[in-house]
Amino acid sequence: QTTIEVAGLRKRFGQTMALDGMSFTVEPGQVTGFVGPNGAGKSTTMRVILGLDSADEGTALVGGRPYKSLRAPLHHVGALLDAGALQPSRTARNHLLWLAHFQGLGATRVDEVIEQVGLRSAARRKAGGFSLGMRQRLGIAAALLGDPPVLMLDEPVNGLDPEGIVWMRGFLRSLAAQGRAVLVSSHLMSELEDTAGHLVVVGRGRVVADTSVADLIAAS
Ligand code: ADP
Ligand code: ADP
Repeated sequence: QTTIEVAGLRKRFGQTMALDGMSFTVEPGQVTGFVGPNGAGKSTTMRVILGLDSADEGTALVGGRPYKSLRAPLHHVGALLDAGALQPSRTARNHLLWLAHFQGLGATRVDEVIEQVGLRSAARRKAGGFSLGMRQRLGIAAALLGDPPVLMLDEPVNGLDPEGIVWMRGFLRSLAAQGRAVLVSSHLMSELEDTAGHLVVVGRGRVVADTSVADLIAAS
């Protein structure tokens, strides 16, 4: 089954055509790399999929439905859009407990996701003092709370140290190996070529190449 379907999205901000016919699909069981230069429309696409921005034209479906018509949407899609969006004065664990509360989830689930992202030793520290890499892990833990089959991560590798990058790549692959659909953006092809099985390359608000990595390697 296809889990994200974006078709013919157009979105204008004033004079800027942010999306100009963006179309692609994201399948379960592999990482789809969403690659293109800054300003290509990656974040806007993700925001439209999540219903945070509206498109002027086109459709964005998750599991066959618009995000806004999903019941329990956080159990369908997890997203990391802005690693800065945390509560600096709360501990990482309390931040997650607070988010879990609104999804009807408790401490057991919170401790599971803390373990999954490798934050156990930092879980009782204030998130305000976290490095970017730890913020990314915390953001991913939050996205995983509802155990969603679809994940969207905007530039999760950005600003990580080499050890963090290696961890993130392995972690993204493991999420896909669990059968999830994982859409990951980056402005650098090199960040995703070893991780993604499917590449959607974008520029100026539209797809310029859409290929499996196996086909790409066979052709080169
Ligand atoms: P990317 O994520 O690939 O870097 P974005 O989706 O953030 O690209 O941006 C696409 C284009 O739309 C850019 O030119 C950006 O400046 C513009 N843009 C995005 N959001 C807004 C906004 N809220 N207001 C005005 N312009 C925006
Ligand atoms: P990214 O590089 O991940 O696309 P940005 O820093 O471009 O992130 O955008 C961060 C936020 O600012 C987003 O909500 C985006 O919609 C908004 N934004 C981006 N470009 C503009 C712009 N030119 N004018 C107003 N808001 C913008």
